[in-house]
Amino acid sequence: MFTKAQLDRYARHIILPGVGAAGQRKLLESKVLVIGAGGLGSPILLYLAAAGVGKIGIIDFDTVDLTNLQRQILHATSDVGKAKVVSAKESLEHLNPDVKVETYQEHLTSQNARDTVRTYDLVIDGSDNFPTRYLVNDACVLENKPLIYGAISQFEGQRSFINVTTVKGQSPCYRCLFPTPPKPGTVLSCSEAGVFGVLPGVVGSLMATEAIKFMLGVGEALGGTLLHYDGLYSEMRRITVKRNPSCMVCGDTPSLVELVDYDLFCS
Ligand code: ZN
Repeated sequence: MFTKAQLDRYARHIILPGVGAAGQRKLLESKVLVIGAGGLGSPILLYLAAAGVGKIGIIDFDTVDLTNLQRQILHATSDVGKAKVVSAKESLEHLNPDVKVETYQEHLTSQNARDTVRTYDLVIDGSDNFPTRYLVNDACVLENKPLIYGAISQFEGQRSFINVTTVKGQSPCYRCLFPTPPKPGTVLSCSEAGVFGVLPGVVGSLMATEAIKFMLGVGEALGGTLLHYDGLYSEMRRITVKRNPSCMVCGDTPSLVELVDYDLFCS
């Protein structure tokens, strides 16, 4: 049963065809883990909390820096110096007291990744570095957890849905697209390349859309499709990607059966 306050808070969902009271109940019972409380994590976490996702896990080792505030709208000027997970938890609880927020102020490593993703229904990767991206992908494949991936650079972004079964079959994983991480020093980090402040808002909101659709079971999951967004020319392209049968983690005879750590070079 909904409380009177919940009937008001979720009124626009409850009257929405395809969601309704049953859909809102599903959201309140959902458990979602978000990797990173930064640029992509900000809109993802705010929209999940606003939608009434019952349990939200946040993993981030970092503290809020003044250079973050140009795009990381979860955090305010008064949060500078505070742990990002603490600032994020305060923002989400302030927005919606229905949401239980679990925080992990630590690096995701080969030691803790599988245990951390295991207790959630869905994982969303809003991290900003390749070692974490590969680790999250591998942990989700090994634990059979659906994963939404997104990435941004300068004026462009992309997102995809990984390790999910769609009408077209099993979707590819991140390693099917990009088998191994780039060598350290070959890719510029956000602090070196710059990033258009509103861009993570667009890409993160698209990731949150995919997550909420998935939990409701409405529409079509974006498995097997990489969605590319160009902010300078307002162009969006869908690129079909296929599962690689010889992928080292999700292929027919996987060689990667335990997690590996890559050197942090783009944090
Ligand atoms: Zn794969």
